[in-house]
Amino acid sequence: MSLIVQKFGGSSVADAERVFNVAGIVTDTYKKGNDVVVVVSAQGDTTDDLIEKAKEINPDASKREMDMLLTSGEQISISLLAMAIEKLGYPVVSLLGWQAGFNTSSAYGSARIKRVIPDRIKKELDKRNIVIVAGFQGINRYGDMTTLGRGGSDTSAVAIASVMHADLCQIYTDVEGVYTADPRKVPGARKLSEISYDEMLELATLGAQVLNNRSVEMAKKYNIELEVLSSLTKAPGTIVKEAAKVEKMLISGVAKDTNVARISIIGVPDRPGLAFKIFSKLSAKDINVDIILQSIGRHGTKDISFTVTQDKMKEAIQVLEDYKSTIDAENIVCDDKVAKVSIVGAGMETHAGIAAKMFEAMFDAQINIQMIATSEIKISVLIDVSDADRAVTAIHNKFFPSEQD
Ligand code: ADP
Ligand code: ASP
Ligand code: MG
Repeated sequence: MSLIVQKFGGSSVADAERVFNVAGIVTDTYKKGNDVVVVVSAQGDTTDDLIEKAKEINPDASKREMDMLLTSGEQISISLLAMAIEKLGYPVVSLLGWQAGFNTSSAYGSARIKRVIPDRIKKELDKRNIVIVAGFQGINRYGDMTTLGRGGSDTSAVAIASVMHADLCQIYTDVEGVYTADPRKVPGARKLSEISYDEMLELATLGAQVLNNRSVEMAKKYNIELEVLSSLTKAPGTIVKEAAKVEKMLISGVAKDTNVARISIIGVPDRPGLAFKIFSKLSAKDINVDIILQSIGRHGTKDISFTVTQDKMKEAIQVLEDYKSTIDAENIVCDDKVAKVSIVGAGMETHAGIAAKMFEAMFDAQINIQMIATSEIKISVLIDVSDADRAVTAIHNKFFPSEQD
C-alpha cells in the first residue's frame, strides 16, 4: 500500500461535473488500496471573485480580514468534493488547514509553512478515510487563519507529501504538464516529459504559473518527485525531479512575468557608495529588487534603474523621493507598463550563443530591450508589456522551430 498525495487546482473543481471527475480520480486511486490525501484549491475564479468583493467593501481591508475571507474559498471546495466522494460510496473527511496541522508564520497573505503536524490526517487514514485538505491556508501563533500567497495550494500538497513521506505527489491541473511555454498562449509549446527542480524553480519564479515557486523549492529541499498532469485527460504528465534526463534542447522553456515595474534614479552623482546606500534603504523596507542596470558615469553623474514587483512600486518611489535630496539625485521616474520575458535552461552553461539567439529573435520581431539580466541557467529581458506575448512567441519559435520548418 502506498501513500499518495493528489492536488487539484481551481479549474479542476470549477463546477459539479468537474468535482465528480476529481472524485472519480481520487476514488480510483483509493480503490487500488492506497492511502490518499487530497489537497484542493478554491473553485474556478473564487479567490479572484472574493478579492473583488472585498474591494467593494473596503479596498484597504486589513490582511487579517482578507485571509479570513480568502480561506473560505477552499472551505467550499473541500466540503463539496467530500460530498461527491460520499455520494460515490467511499469514506471521506474534509479538513481545513488548521485541522490538518498547518502551522504558519504570522504574515497574513504570504505566510510561510513552519511545521505540519499530521496527527489528525494520520488518524483519519488509519480509519481508511480519504482525507481532503484545504490548500493555501494554515493557522498562525495567534490562532488566526493565514494564506500562503497566490497559487499556494501547490505548496500545501508538497508539504504534506514531505512530512508524511508520501510515495507519490501528483499535481493535477488544466494542462497536461509543464510545457516549453504557456500552452494556452503559444500554440507550438511542447510538453516536457521531465524537468529538473532547478529549471522548474526558475520557470516558476519567472512567471510560469503551472507550479508555485515555493512548492518547487520545498520539493527540491525534501527531494519529493512531483508529477504535473491533467485532471481532464489521461495523458502522461511531466516529472519534476533532481536530475532530469537531458532532452536535446538548449533551453527548457520561455516564461513571461507582467508583475514588474521599472524605477530609475536619474542623475546620481558618480561617487563610490551610492548604489550601496540606495539599495540598503530599499532593503530596510523589505523591498526586493530584481534586475539592476547602472549607466556609465558621464559629466559626473550616472543613472541607476531597477525593477520591483508592482505592489512595491509606490513604496519604493516613496523611499527614493525621501532620500533624493540627501544623495543629490536629479529625478525619479517609473514605468509599470513593462514585462520580463525569460528563457531557462541548464544547457546554457555549456553552450555559447544562446543569448545572441534570444536577442536575434527580439530583433527579428523589432522588439526593443530595456534591460538584461543573466544567471547560469537563465536570461531575462525587460521590454514593453505590449510586446510581451509577441516576444514569447518569437523567442519560442527561434529555439523550438515547428517540425515542418
Ligand atoms: P491550477 O488552478 O491547477 O493551480 P494554474 O492556473 O495555477 O492551475 O496553472 C496552470 C496554468 O499555467 C495553465 O492553464 C497555463 O495556462 C499556465 N502556464 C504558464 N506557463 C506554463 C508552462 N510553461 N507549462 C504549463 N502551463 C503553463
Ligand atoms: N485559491 C488560491 C489562489 O487562487 C490558491 C491556489 O489556487 O493554489 O491563489
Ligand atoms: Mg495554481
